[in-house]
Amino acid sequence: MNYFRNIWEAISSIAQGMAVTLRQFFTKPETVQYPEVDVLNPRMPGYSGHLKPVSERFRGFLTVDTTVCISCNQCAHVCPVDCILVESEKGPKTTVNSLRPDGKESPKTRYPVQFDIHLGRCMYCGLCTEVCPTGCIHFTREFRGAAGEYHKLIHHFISPEEAERVRKLAAEEAAKPKPEKPVATKVEAEKE
Ligand code: SF4
Ligand code: SF4
Repeated sequence: MNYFRNIWEAISSIAQGMAVTLRQFFTKPETVQYPEVDVLNPRMPGYSGHLKPVSERFRGFLTVDTTVCISCNQCAHVCPVDCILVESEKGPKTTVNSLRPDGKESPKTRYPVQFDIHLGRCMYCGLCTEVCPTGCIHFTREFRGAAGEYHKLIHHFISPEEAERVRKLAAEEAAKPKPEKPVATKVEAEKE
């Protein structure tokens, strides 16, 4: 009897295992062939959008809207790992509207000629996004950034052409004649 019971147990346990395999065979897969399938694009062939979407609050790579950046350098100063580099030139006085919901206006006199973020060093703490007065540096939901070389993790947000354009603008601004200071009267000079 023991002999036949063992045979029965072996057959039934194999049948249970095969039933699980068979059920999975007809279940919708929870995986996709990444990176061939773009998991952020539900319209991508081979991906029906069945994966849990990346959260709205997900901290992916940082990005900067350099047209709104006022080159205040606060992000670079607050970064605990020194992964932001901002170089700027003085240009014409203008204003920019904050990208934050309040849309507050900020004066802009400096223009970035270099804005680099080293994403290999960034620890996604978010301090830079919090201090930025114009809200122009913010997280994206992008996380696909594998690179074969370490230096490729440095993202450059200003092109050489844009830097050249800003430098020309700054040179023109510097060449403009400055309004003369009013000459102090004798009484004002004595007060000083
Ligand atoms: S998220 Fe943190 S570590 Fe990354 S650049 Fe901003 S301040 Fe630096
Ligand atoms: S804190 Fe904002 S406005 Fe200031 S340099 Fe950084 S990105 Fe530009």
